[in-house]
Amino acid sequence: NKQIIFKDYVTGFPKESDMFLTTSSISLKVPEGSNALVVKNLYLSCDSYMLRMMKPSPSYVPSYVPGSPLRGYGVARVLESGHPDFKRGDLVWGVTGWEEYSLIDTPDTQIRIEHADVPLSYYTGILGMPGMTAYAGFMEVCSPKKGEYVFVSAASGAVGQVVGQLAKLLGCYVVGSGGSKEKVELLKSKLGFEEAFNYKEEQDLDAALKRYFPEGIDIYFENVGGKMLDAVMLNMRQHGRIALCGMISHYNPVQPEGIHNLMALIAKGIRMQGFMVYDYFDKYPKYLDLILPHIRDGKVAYVEDIAEGLENAPAALVSLFSGLFSGSNLGKPLIAVGGD
Ligand code: NDP
Repeated sequence: NKQIIFKDYVTGFPKESDMFLTTSSISLKVPEGSNALVVKNLYLSCDSYMLRMMKPSPSYVPSYVPGSPLRGYGVARVLESGHPDFKRGDLVWGVTGWEEYSLIDTPDTQIRIEHADVPLSYYTGILGMPGMTAYAGFMEVCSPKKGEYVFVSAASGAVGQVVGQLAKLLGCYVVGSGGSKEKVELLKSKLGFEEAFNYKEEQDLDAALKRYFPEGIDIYFENVGGKMLDAVMLNMRQHGRIALCGMISHYNPVQPEGIHNLMALIAKGIRMQGFMVYDYFDKYPKYLDLILPHIRDGKVAYVEDIAEGLENAPAALVSLFSGLFSGSNLGKPLIAVGGD
């Protein structure tokens, strides 16, 4: 069983040498009397929260254990099941190890894949945790209505690209920001955003938002924080909603400048709400009913960045982390495990 082992906690950003590939043996049998699953991992998701798990400090996710395989969301095929809800051959997505084969002793964390006519890798992205994040934050937290003005930051990311397309499905006007020419182009040409802009080229974010939203913003889906959030506050409309999904500019050791414009929200009765996707997983079937038909008929697209082979996983993760913060990433990053 090839595995990617987490060596030890990191300060700053991880290097490839903070992980290593090893081969160990694993029994492909479920232990007697256990309700565990033995799975063959097919796709492994690279997500920004994994950086926090490589550090010892407490956060909302538990840290990795040095000397053990990395863990994260993935797509797998069940080889053997001790659980009545799963059988050999089922496809599942959920938390798994960064290895070829895993023994999953908490099968309740796995969701059976009922629709395999779409790319299975999508279950690490648009049909997995990032897609659910978009759905929860946009549909559940923001209660959008047809015709509303929607702004999404980090709009071409794993989450953002879904938010924009959900907004379009509802008949909203949607604008996204991204940090490169390629991202802006992608948002407009492939992901259906009405407009997009490169925030790095804007001297004055307030002026940029006024240009794209002369009548103001009804819904802001917040992925970045810092200066962007501050500028958005000056452009919200009466009874607008802000979903606080992530604040990537605050994840660095060097914190962005503080927020100055909070007071702008009082008179307009703006609701700003944080959320965690895990609290909304019961809505997953509802989300699938909404999104699957549009994926099938090509109305909704999803851009991925797939690294081939488990041996390339450390490099993919390191490049994800540097890309996440420098903005050089494009598309949802994931690993095709191979050896199928
Ligand atoms: P993305 O793929 O969107 O990557 C993050 C992007 O943020 C980068 O590509 C970069 O793009 C942009 N960025 C990085 N640094 C800055 C900065 N200083 N200022 C502005 N933009 C910056 O990530 P995901 O789609 O995976 O996640 C989006 C957000 O959602 C993250 O903040 C994540 O933590 C959060 N999240 C929250 C969950 C929840 O339950 N609340 C669940 C899952 C994710 P560029 O600069 O080129 O635009």
